[in-house]
Amino acid sequence: MKINHFQKNQGDWENFDKDYRLGLDYRLMYENAPDMYLSVNPENGKIIGCNNTLFKKTGFTKAEVLNKTVFYIYDPSCHEEVREALETFRECGRLENQQLMFRTKAGGVIPILLSVEAVRDGNGNIMYSNGCCRDISDRYRLQQEINQFAYVASHDLQAPLKSVKGALEVFQMMNQNIVNEESVELLKVVDQSLDRMTLLIEGLLEHSQIGKSFLKEKLDMNGVVGDVLVDLASSIESSGAKVVYGYLPEVEVYPVEIRLLFQNLIGNAIKFQKKGKVPMVAIEFSESPKYFQFVVSDNGIGIPEHQQSAIFRMFSRLNSPTDFEGTGIGLAHCKKIVELHGGEIWLNSDFGMGSQFYFTLPKS
Ligand code: ADP
Repeated sequence: MKINHFQKNQGDWENFDKDYRLGLDYRLMYENAPDMYLSVNPENGKIIGCNNTLFKKTGFTKAEVLNKTVFYIYDPSCHEEVREALETFRECGRLENQQLMFRTKAGGVIPILLSVEAVRDGNGNIMYSNGCCRDISDRYRLQQEINQFAYVASHDLQAPLKSVKGALEVFQMMNQNIVNEESVELLKVVDQSLDRMTLLIEGLLEHSQIGKSFLKEKLDMNGVVGDVLVDLASSIESSGAKVVYGYLPEVEVYPVEIRLLFQNLIGNAIKFQKKGKVPMVAIEFSESPKYFQFVVSDNGIGIPEHQQSAIFRMFSRLNSPTDFEGTGIGLAHCKKIVELHGGEIWLNSDFGMGSQFYFTLPKS
């Protein structure tokens, strides 16, 4: 007779029941969790386990997926990033919130957010990876729709605007000798409004393009800030601004976007200054195990506390256009760029004394 060792005494039974139920519960939770789980041997990149949710969502069967390399379930559009993710995992033993794309058996794609932790042996060597893959299709679709809408709206609005501007120029040329002073003033207002609308639409178009580039690069932030200061040379010269920065780190970033971020923050630090006062701007950084934290400080006009949360909203401006030019889009860009990198942006400001704009960028 096969002896069930749990029958030895009543105490074991109780424990068995507890442990067994616990194991079963965990198994059921694992198999039917809302997220997809994936375990990989990082040595050869082969899939050694996944849960039912992954099979349900992708349409693949266990036999099709197990023992294949991870590339089997990723869409070819992100294979380069998967290769990099595997490299990073082998080095660091973890990955956090990496946006990638699964493929489905039916020929579709599922955008996912991947976080991975290493399972190690007693000596600390990585045995395999446990990855949690969150389906972000809804968020992705919404984001795509918003971007598409902003792109089409701004792109298509430019054409009629250009026609009106062209017609206005022709009208002015044809009527140089006829129009009176009042009409000249009116036409000037129309012309200025058209220029402003063009600027706003260009800003909106630029906003919709943020995050289009797919590849991150390891960039030296000293070089980025140096390039931005060259671009801002004319405003630095005309205001006499002093811009200082010490050693800044190398960070893995989207290059175009990160330049735009520094350009907006440093540009604002120079621009929002009392007339006749020399702008003093400093760019510094500190770091924690997970993040680099940057701060752009100025000695400018500052921002009253009750208005500080509003300034990251699109088209939000606190000053009159006659005092400071602008569209109110720059800080909305900054917020989108920092969040694209998985960081945060905020500020401290003393009204009349100056402001410090902080932002974080994750290290991996
Ligand atoms: P813009 O610079 O085109 O006006 P932004 O989106 O860059 O638009 O900034 C929004 C508003 O926030 C600005 O109009 C200004 O009122 C305020 N602001 C931004 N940066 C600063 C700063 N460094 N000092 C004071 N006010 C600022």
